[in-house]
Amino acid sequence: MPPIAAYFGGDENRKTRKSSGGEWRSHEPPRVDGLYGVRQTDNDGTMKSIKGATLALMVMVFVGRAEPLQIMTVSGPVAVGEVGVVLSHEHVLVDFVGASEAGPHRYEVDAVVAKAEPFIREAQARGVELMIEATPQFLGRDPRVLLALRERTGMQFITNTGLYGAVRDKFLPDYAWTDSAEQLAVRWVEEANSGIMHTGVKPGFMKLAVDSQRELSEVDAKLVRAGALAHRETGLTIAVHTGRGANLAQLDILAEEGVAASAWVWVHAQNVEVSNILAAAERGAWLSFDGVRPRSLDRHVEVILAMREAGYLNQVLISHDAGWYDPAEPEGGEYRGHVLLFDELIPRLKEAGLTAAEIERLVRHNPLEAFAVRKRLLE
Ligand SMILES: [Zn+2]
Repeated sequence: MPPIAAYFGGDENRKTRKSSGGEWRSHEPPRVDGLYGVRQTDNDGTMKSIKGATLALMVMVFVGRAEPLQIMTVSGPVAVGEVGVVLSHEHVLVDFVGASEAGPHRYEVDAVVAKAEPFIREAQARGVELMIEATPQFLGRDPRVLLALRERTGMQFITNTGLYGAVRDKFLPDYAWTDSAEQLAVRWVEEANSGIMHTGVKPGFMKLAVDSQRELSEVDAKLVRAGALAHRETGLTIAVHTGRGANLAQLDILAEEGVAASAWVWVHAQNVEVSNILAAAERGAWLSFDGVRPRSLDRHVEVILAMREAGYLNQVLISHDAGWYDPAEPEGGEYRGHVLLFDELIPRLKEAGLTAAEIERLVRHNPLEAFAVRKRLLE
């Protein structure tokens, strides 16, 4: 595994630009340099967390926390200081057959694991230690696959709860229509507390989706409200697949339920006008520029630089939205790997002037902060 410095250069002293701020920051813990611990490379090339305990103590004293920030992985809670490079939106398995037919009868776990494993190892070779797997239930979410990959490779994974309301509701089960927002939230809180099915695996965030239209449909608005209600109970981050349509309206629903915008991730935000993204950033949302692929590199550089220029680099997430085993294809079809960000995008960002500390913020500090489990409520 390459040392983390291979990507960040060891330029630890220069600070990233700070956000221009906004009222939401009063609901956030102070950002403390060293919050994630200090890592260095020892002689045989393995990464070690050093001074972690001392720093954690300092952070606890400084922000008044009983415990350091944690993420919830498929193997249980992990302190954010223990994690290196993160890919914040990827997929191992996706089945587009629709809610009425989806299920584990559609694939063999071993076949999915065998297909994905080399790509997971390839990402590990770039230093990735945690992948946030964004496949929702009724689209192939399967903790057994992630546990097996964790066991085989050592990669950490986060899975999710929630419902996917995009693609004209093809992936919604019947109960999405009959349940109230409160009842949906109860289901998601139950998974957060007791685990998914009988696996014991707890979700580490909520993955929702809304249709790409100007106004939220009734059911999509209900999903977002349920997400806010479940956040109030669980502190799980609400990541919402959002097309070009209703985005800020989701923040209004969160605010109605007393949930801060910093609990919300705008998934696929790279596809809209910069002015629109900036408006969400101003309110405190996380912006996920997650479709990194060869033809998107120019666009990714453009939006990341725009966020940096406006002082919002601290709210940017980058990932590939790549993968995956598709049960509808022979042998799972073509699997798109999870490394272009390291091989192409980061060198481009460095060329454009981003510092090593800024790169580290994008692939480590930001995703860990975005997905750390904690309640983010308006006063
Ligand atoms: Zn995705």
